[in-house]
Amino acid sequence: MSSKVKVRFAPSPTGIAHIGGIRTALYNFLFAKKNKGEFLLRIEDTDQKRLVKEAENAIFEMLKWLEIQPSGEIIHQSERLEIYKKYAYELVSKKIAYEKDGAVWVSLPDDKIFEWTDLVGNKKIRFEGSTQEDFVILKSDGFPTYHLANVVDDHLMGTTHVFRGEEWISSTPKHLYLYESFNWEHPEFVHLPVILGSDHTKLSKRHGAKSVLDYKNEGYLKEAVLNYMALLGWNPGGDREQMSLSEMESLFEIKDINTANPIFDQTKFEWLNGVWIRSISTQELQERLNEFYSDDKEVVKIIKSEKSEELVKAATSRMRTLADFKNLVSKDPQNKKTKEEEKIAEKLNNFLDKKLKNWDDEELLSAIREFSKEENVPFKTIFFLLSGKTSGIGILELNQIYGKDFFVANLKSK
Ligand code: GLU
Repeated sequence: MSSKVKVRFAPSPTGIAHIGGIRTALYNFLFAKKNKGEFLLRIEDTDQKRLVKEAENAIFEMLKWLEIQPSGEIIHQSERLEIYKKYAYELVSKKIAYEKDGAVWVSLPDDKIFEWTDLVGNKKIRFEGSTQEDFVILKSDGFPTYHLANVVDDHLMGTTHVFRGEEWISSTPKHLYLYESFNWEHPEFVHLPVILGSDHTKLSKRHGAKSVLDYKNEGYLKEAVLNYMALLGWNPGGDREQMSLSEMESLFEIKDINTANPIFDQTKFEWLNGVWIRSISTQELQERLNEFYSDDKEVVKIIKSEKSEELVKAATSRMRTLADFKNLVSKDPQNKKTKEEEKIAEKLNNFLDKKLKNWDDEELLSAIREFSKEENVPFKTIFFLLSGKTSGIGILELNQIYGKDFFVANLKSK
């Protein structure tokens, strides 16, 4: 390929920008970086009735959070109506388009074959002109349709590769005909297999079709979101899974995009988030937690306390999202004791009081063992009575961090 790579993310701000949409942005970005090309942003806001006010800002915010920022000026198609009009009438004058009901239409010749090699899987895709209905390129309100604006802009911007969802494959013959009619070369097409939910149907709100910002609010790290999105349809080979953005930039190749529909797997996403949580430094994690809990005074206090580093270290191995941190480190008991458990707690309190002198780890551990054996109480119950939780940071870590007073308060609580 001789010309410099130029790609664009071209969202329509008509709804939430979910994982599927942002994955397209990411693949564009990775491809541009890998090939030292340009990554541009074009807002396809020509369908005025379907615009959602907040959608555009949400897109900017997501790209910023994920640090996949476009270069150059952001193009808004709604500000370029004159340009599309000019091109629409050029086709009218060439007798390729015709006017009807105040709109401009194009009809594809029935006997023509439209064919291209899609770079996903390098497969030839072919449509006969007769399968395509006449379509509008300029509406009576002066706005272009997607087909016209998309083709005109990709030509004017010098787009070399169009990455988009495979739902656009059926529109591509129309685009090819427009490129040909204008005497323009068409870009390469990279139609990405659509992401499916775990039940193998279209991704819905229940599994993954949420705004990427929702994942941010649920305590996912941007590293994990980028990494997991990239793996939804692409893999550089081998069994490599954890990759940073810059690693992915150097590895990304279109030939490694899978032709099968990727399945969104919530459990794997959470696992990968946990892997990333354990990969960043404690100090970095403290900063992320501080930001995540900025509205929660109780947790901010914990993060700012002198115990912070120890707590964060102890919690890390048990966290899948930043949202898990609060339950892990909170001093408030999570579950109430039964009457039976209250009795055992009282006994345990008296037992520890007698046995322990310094409350060091060794003493504590052997006392717990002894109590468990003598009273026939499982460790699980003892853990709950001491920590106030059914699972979480280990007893010895809690002893180091919170110590005796914390355990005694839990034993005494109802
Ligand atoms: N506006 C279209 C979308 O949101 C763009 C498709 C394309 O990239 O051509 O999917």
